[in-house]
Amino acid sequence: MRVRFAPSPTGQLHVGNVRTALFNWLLARRHGGTFILRIEDTDRERSTRASETAMIADLRWLGLTWDEGPDAGGPFAPYRQSERTARYDEVAADLRARGRAYFCFCTPAQLEDERQAALASGRPPRYSGRCRAIDPAEAARRVEAGEPAALRFAVPEGDRDVTFHDAVRGDVTVNTSIIGDFVIVRSGGSPAYNFAVVVDDADMQVTTVIRGEDHISNTPRQLLIYEALGQPAPAFAHLSLVLGADHAPLSKRHGVTSVSEFRARGYLPEALVNYLALLGWSPGEGEEIVPIDEMIRRFDLSTVSHSAAVFDFDKLAWMNRQYMRRLPASRIAADAMPYLQQRGVVTGATAEALAYVESLLPMVVGSVDRLEEIGDRVAFLFAWDAAEARRLVEVESDGPRAVEAFAEAVRATGPLVDRETFRAAATRARELCGLKGRALFHPIRVALTAADSGPELDIAVPAIERGATLPASAGVARVSSCLERLRAVAGQR
Ligand code: GLU
Repeated sequence: MRVRFAPSPTGQLHVGNVRTALFNWLLARRHGGTFILRIEDTDRERSTRASETAMIADLRWLGLTWDEGPDAGGPFAPYRQSERTARYDEVAADLRARGRAYFCFCTPAQLEDERQAALASGRPPRYSGRCRAIDPAEAARRVEAGEPAALRFAVPEGDRDVTFHDAVRGDVTVNTSIIGDFVIVRSGGSPAYNFAVVVDDADMQVTTVIRGEDHISNTPRQLLIYEALGQPAPAFAHLSLVLGADHAPLSKRHGVTSVSEFRARGYLPEALVNYLALLGWSPGEGEEIVPIDEMIRRFDLSTVSHSAAVFDFDKLAWMNRQYMRRLPASRIAADAMPYLQQRGVVTGATAEALAYVESLLPMVVGSVDRLEEIGDRVAFLFAWDAAEARRLVEVESDGPRAVEAFAEAVRATGPLVDRETFRAAATRARELCGLKGRALFHPIRVALTAADSGPELDIAVPAIERGATLPASAGVARVSSCLERLRAVAGQR
């Protein structure tokens, strides 16, 4: 089993493409096969090395490791099409020598006239085959003399059905009469997609081609090239497109579509991979959270659906929340650090900072969908605003009285380091002022957090106190203690 993922490095890695990569990867891992990464950069205008580097980083982040590729090397290197030109030239020359390809001197204007004429008379627009009649020796002389020419594949004459079995869609048949002689090498010398892909898949001994259904119409052409080369064709599986809610192909219009953007917003790779696996494939038994090893164990092309998959952003958010709960807190804390650093909450990646962030997670996990949102949930620890706290306390009729009683209680109990101390202080405050329930707790909340709502107080309060004891060298923004906050709101008596 040898499969490949063959992105064109012309932009960001789109989640639809990642699903293709993932299905290839799952199949290879399931069968102990080889997963190849091949960079299809024959479009020199649009391909960039920056895009390739970013795609490689995205695939690594997702954990979709490859066995052969431009960076990993392998027995069929090079794995970048721009480095394989000599090989394409060699195969092209061979096809020409055997009469399976010919030079075409038609100008774009001529081709366009032909196309218009065909459309006007209701015929499918296909190349007339005009240059096929030119004597090959004569054509070679003209090319030698510098005349621009493309190389076209000579589609076998006569009506013939080309049939292949698609593992997802079943049998697909196309009649050669609708396939005009197509360009395999452009006049500038660059190989066309259909040609390069066949040369590479044959050379790299790819056994199964899994790709998007937008390539289904290319497959009969590719099969004709395999035939001309005397090479066995691989098996094919064409995956349905990933659509947006309006059933148009998923695009920027629908929201975030590239892996790097999902990553920047704080989605976890495990969640994205799990979500994408369910787009068009079902692990069975109605399960949705499926660990990667289990997916590998169960993956099978015969259970991939041929109907289009709709990308559901809410479902992905739900899944991410599930993974935030399930993955070890140390891992979530480490992954959350960059977001907290961006907000200035964490200023250095010390072990103390990491431990503090990890200790905050019970307050956060379960109520946020993405790592990026953690900052908002913990902001009250670092950016406590005394004026706002005072204002919110004064809105409550018994607010100042409740806060003063609580401040006095805290002076007696000392720092509210855990749930028990907090509860003891609250009980004492109730005895002092006679207020209870919301009349007591809401003023305490707004005084300590400067916000109307937020995490449970018996978790939030010890978090404030723990933060306040961190030394400046911990690399955590300063947190004022509960007593400092209460003093600033209630004033000293
Ligand atoms: N470079 C092509 C693409 O990104 C690959 C198609 C294929 O897998 O054959 O669409």
